[in-house]
Amino acid sequence: MTVLSKTGQLRSLEGRHKQLFRLVELSVTLNSTLDLNELLNLITATATELLECEAASILLYDEKNPRLFFAAATGSDPAELAKIPVPIEGSLAGTIFRTNQPMVLNNVEQDPRHYSLVADHIKFKTKSLLGVPMPIKDRVMGVLEAVNKREGAFTDSDVAILSVTAAHAAIAINNARLLKATQRALEKVKDTNQIKSNFLAIASHELRTPLGIVIGYATFLQQDSQGENSENANHVLNAAEQMRALLDQMSNLTLLQSDDLGLKPVKVSVQDILNFSIDEIKYPASRKDLQLVYAFGDDPIYVDMDMQKTILAYVNILNNAIRFSTDGGEIVIGAVEQGNNILTWVQDRGIGIPVDKLDKIFEEFYQVEPPNSRSHGGLGIGLPIARGLIEAQGGKVWAESEGKGKGSTFKISLPKM
Ligand code: ADP
Repeated sequence: MTVLSKTGQLRSLEGRHKQLFRLVELSVTLNSTLDLNELLNLITATATELLECEAASILLYDEKNPRLFFAAATGSDPAELAKIPVPIEGSLAGTIFRTNQPMVLNNVEQDPRHYSLVADHIKFKTKSLLGVPMPIKDRVMGVLEAVNKREGAFTDSDVAILSVTAAHAAIAINNARLLKATQRALEKVKDTNQIKSNFLAIASHELRTPLGIVIGYATFLQQDSQGENSENANHVLNAAEQMRALLDQMSNLTLLQSDDLGLKPVKVSVQDILNFSIDEIKYPASRKDLQLVYAFGDDPIYVDMDMQKTILAYVNILNNAIRFSTDGGEIVIGAVEQGNNILTWVQDRGIGIPVDKLDKIFEEFYQVEPPNSRSHGGLGIGLPIARGLIEAQGGKVWAESEGKGKGSTFKISLPKM
């Protein structure tokens, strides 16, 4: 007698050990699976096995139409089951969901809350049922049900095991849903970004032809006229040139988003890059009476870079230094060797940049001044272009400023040849 009960005890311990082992296994698999359907099938299969019952099902809460729906069930077609709505009020699963409490029923068909629509639909007779809520943070996401215990009735230990399974399952389902939502959002962002890129490419291309005509005729007019007329034509020409510069920036941004930047690296000295860049902005600097200070030596320091595109990056930064400086100020352009790199900088004594915006200004279309109160114009793409072009060649660009009114320094580090 004693021997028999010991064997019985041993068997029950063994069974329990197996259950716990399976539970740990499930938890590991759940954490490594992010496919929602795979997860749902795994949960129902494991619940059926762990509780030694005929079937298990997962009902999830549908927030849009407040009701539960079958997300998975062993041996049934989930698509068919999903068509059957399970009300929150007046159904067993609904009661478990609402009360956030497990429920054990060993004679289901006699319970008035038994929702026979499901049984009718799948020709499945529910005799005994154990249902537990699936908790996630402070809410319930659904209900996990085990149906028809093969031998005997559902026990307290079954309740504990199914509750742990449900808690793990809820986290895994939530993660899978979050991942899906993030992927969807990412796709949307990608689509929007593509639309923006296409628009930029088309707009800059389409505006170029009429602008060419404006510039052509304004040049004739300027050459053929005198006095006030010539001056007026000159205004038109200046405005058109400004527009062309903006269109060039738009094209450069589109170029940056393409896979191939078409870089043609050559051996060139940093001094040449800086001097050519400064040549391009000398005129606008003189119009604001800005003094350009050269803080670099004559001994050439070489880099292996695309000259034209690197100059473009510097011109963008120099143009900003001019635009954001007050008349009569000073702009310092410097370079110094630093190990394997050459550190160059453009320092102005202009309006400065708030410290918390020093990174943001490199984002496309970002401008410190809100769009409706901008007094400096621009599209907010000069810096992303500069950074993109320099980084694509192994360099770095960043901004430093002690804040508003304290001037700004843009640093560009280039890899030495
Ligand atoms: P844009 O100058 O056309 O607006 P950018 O991408 O070149 O576009 O610059 C983004 C923003 O960074 C500017 O609108 C301005 O707010 C800020 N910024 C850039 N350079 C300077 C500078 N030298 N001094 C102060 N603010 C600057």
